Amino acid sequence: MKVGFYGHVRQYHNLKEEIDAAIFEVLESGNYIMGPTLARFEKELAAYCHMKHAIGCNSGTDALWLAFMALGIGPGDEVITVANTFFATAEAVWIAGARPVFVDIEPHTCNMDPTLIEPAITDRTRAIVPVHLYGQMANMPAIADIAQRHNLLVVEDCAQAIGAAGDTFAIGELSDAACLSFIAHKNLGTPGDGGAVVTNRDDIVDRILALRNHGSLKRSYHSMGYNSRLDDLHAGLLSVKLKRIDQWNDRRRQIAAMYSEGLQDTGLQLPYEKPGYRHVYHLYVIEIEQRDEMLKYLNQAGIDAKTHYPIAIHQQEGYPWGQPADLNVSLPLTERSAARVISLPMFPELTPEEIDYVIHTVRTWEG
Ligand SMILES: *Cc1c(COP(=O)(O)O)cnc(C)c1O
Repeated sequence: MKVGFYGHVRQYHNLKEEIDAAIFEVLESGNYIMGPTLARFEKELAAYCHMKHAIGCNSGTDALWLAFMALGIGPGDEVITVANTFFATAEAVWIAGARPVFVDIEPHTCNMDPTLIEPAITDRTRAIVPVHLYGQMANMPAIADIAQRHNLLVVEDCAQAIGAAGDTFAIGELSDAACLSFIAHKNLGTPGDGGAVVTNRDDIVDRILALRNHGSLKRSYHSMGYNSRLDDLHAGLLSVKLKRIDQWNDRRRQIAAMYSEGLQDTGLQLPYEKPGYRHVYHLYVIEIEQRDEMLKYLNQAGIDAKTHYPIAIHQQEGYPWGQPADLNVSLPLTERSAARVISLPMFPELTPEEIDYVIHTVRTWEG
């Protein structure tokens, strides 16, 4: 049996009529860039997130960068974040001209450890950028509290976490801006790239709108910006999918529960769901000492398991400024996790047979 890692083609087949209709509607309308379809999706997205504003852009990476720029985060500033994330989290900080300062993680959620933030604050610190890794929110109340006491900005990397929440808060509500990604394999994905910033801060909306469109809010008038728009074609397709996101996230949670039930006595480290948090399982990640052997075994059994992320950002060789002091940062829990993680197939369209096969295969491993 073969079990793939991504379900987006199955998802397309399941929604083919509606998706095709949405695409043809945009094609026939002639409005391809910043048209009414984008405006409608932005409204729907803001409503879904219970936020005042949603601004579409070209990718999750751009969403982060646009938020940083709009908030005035730039050269000379330090941004406290984590290193066990997709490279783009730190990359966006560098693109804005600031410097990421990495702190270590909690051992079970693998999210930013809030107790390590204050020791990392210097007089250059401007912002904290938590990542809601694998679809579970970081401890936002603690992070927001520290930010408030030290007068710091908070930008949430929600690329993996649309629909995630805590018992008294959700993405975007305890920060200055929250950034989403719609790249194909994310929980809400389009065939291509896309992203959005959601925020309750009225004062940064025009800046983000201008920055994503060559510094222009009015035709022919420009200041310095960039070209980072969400195409109407993608927006139309995302509108079709946004209606299903809660149902899909529920299915991801169900599959995760089946995996966790099936693997509970194996000695593997399974995902930890924090009480009171709604984990939306962008990824189902287990940890094991013999990671490389297990990965090979699963792949040979036809299961497309992957690793997120085997090389933490501070371990990357292409470290942009190359100063030894920055390379020397030690993040023991981040490094331990990077050496042990395996992501099992996780998407709403997985069949019961595929789920059983994954559980059975992992269980019969003789390491
Ligand atoms: C996917 C992802 C991004 C980048 O999003 P793109 O749309 O691919 O640019 C940033 N951060 C995290 C945590 C991600 O998973």
